[in-house]
Amino acid sequence: MKQDLSLLIQALDSSISGIILTDNQQPDNPIIYCNRAFEHITGYNRQEIIGHNCRFLQKEDRNQKERQILRKAVEEGNECVVEIRNYQKNGTLFWNELYMSPIKDEDGNVCYFIGVQNDITRRKKAEQELLHQQEIMESQIRERTKSLRESEDYLSSIVQTVRESLVVLNPDFKVLSVNDHFLKTFKVTKEETEGKLLYELGNGQWNIPKLKELLENILPTNNPVEEFEVEHDFPHIGKKLMLLNAHRVELEGQYKDRILIAIEDITDRREIERRKDDFLSIASHELKTPLTTIKGYVQMMQRLLPENVSEKFKDILKKTGLYVERLNTLIAELLDVSRIQTGNIELHTEPFDFDKAVYEAVENIQSATKTHQIIIRGKGSNNYSGDESHIVQVVNNLLSNAIKYSPESGEVDVYLSRVSNFIKVSVKDSGMGIKVEDHKKIFDRFYRVGEIQQRFPGMGIGLYVCDQIIKNHGGTLWVESEPGQGSTFSFTLPLERNPNDK
Ligand code: ADP
Repeated sequence: MKQDLSLLIQALDSSISGIILTDNQQPDNPIIYCNRAFEHITGYNRQEIIGHNCRFLQKEDRNQKERQILRKAVEEGNECVVEIRNYQKNGTLFWNELYMSPIKDEDGNVCYFIGVQNDITRRKKAEQELLHQQEIMESQIRERTKSLRESEDYLSSIVQTVRESLVVLNPDFKVLSVNDHFLKTFKVTKEETEGKLLYELGNGQWNIPKLKELLENILPTNNPVEEFEVEHDFPHIGKKLMLLNAHRVELEGQYKDRILIAIEDITDRREIERRKDDFLSIASHELKTPLTTIKGYVQMMQRLLPENVSEKFKDILKKTGLYVERLNTLIAELLDVSRIQTGNIELHTEPFDFDKAVYEAVENIQSATKTHQIIIRGKGSNNYSGDESHIVQVVNNLLSNAIKYSPESGEVDVYLSRVSNFIKVSVKDSGMGIKVEDHKKIFDRFYRVGEIQQRFPGMGIGLYVCDQIIKNHGGTLWVESEPGQGSTFSFTLPLERNPNDK
């Protein structure tokens, strides 16, 4: 029996859990046994442990709710498990996972309690760390949600304010949302619009095969659909011209496959443009007729000039002739523009000696220019089929621009060449040059670079007409230039043209 007991004590001593026995029959339930692990965990030795109530392990940290659980279990003679903060002898905190169980006699009275303790400080720390991380994350999510909501409000206030109709579609072309401007423009309600297929809206105004093809085939390749015009008799609002731009939208990796369509009503704008073009055409025609008569009279006066008129009179007549000629050129340019606008420009295509025509044009301009020397070199072709007078018009225009916009320099270079099966002509000056952002715009009608407007006369249509003429011949016209570095205008013309070209 004694042997059994010592074996039991040996076994308890080799456990890594701290084990104690308390005697519930004595006042204040003192500890009557502790194993080695308990000494090790708490840092106290046996002499300091035996006879004490367990509470010494909590030192001053008395307000733990676990203590009540323990007290209650002792009072009621029940078992319990708690995780409680305890302190080693040297004051170091350790988390104690304490399992307490009553030992009862035959009559069911609780005589002893056995307590098994494990130091779970490490696990507890990890748990607390996790909790802390979780709290940080939650607060970050809260912040992020708040800022997302704010930016959503911000975006939606922009969307509602823009003066364009906006439609957002899902990848199946169903309308997810529209802005107020859309509802106002098309005089429809949200209910009539949202959730419907784009192609089924109204009386099928967007059900256009070409638009369908653009949205379904071009958009998925991440290319936007730009400036697509829809002219339609819309329900409620009648005949209108709408301009469509469509983009795939993506916001920080979200909403990936949604489509944003911006619709602009350009009916009025187009009408104003048309009226302006009409006015231009009528005005230039109206001006042309009396001017032709004046030109005729001036020529007649020059022919019928009596011999004894004064030099002054002759000079005035000559100047009148020059100004009439200049006015004639301006009106002819305006007429060109209106003809281009209405598609009435006629090409008189015939074979001619291209190089000779260009060399002669240079000679003519040179004879009227004292400030600049025009140097022409190279060869293009002796036999080109095109509209000679139009080509000469282009060369004249480029040359007079080169002279006009290089007042400080004295030379203009013209270079003719043959590149593959194209003729290439370049006109190079050392003048003021052109900013890159204006390179495209200068070919628009009536566009003039802002800062030169006052200093140089002009209407901003020469390059527009040149560009159209070169395009009509199947060629291209472009500029290479930098501010202060001069400009080189070049055009190419194909020698053999595809009969289908315009
Ligand atoms: P205009 O000369 O009557 O203004 P153009 O259509 O010929 O009209 O030219 C358009 C604009 O392009 C000019 O107003 C000028 O700003 C710019 N430009 C054309 N040629 C040159 C050039 N050689 N050097 C610098 N700027 C030029």
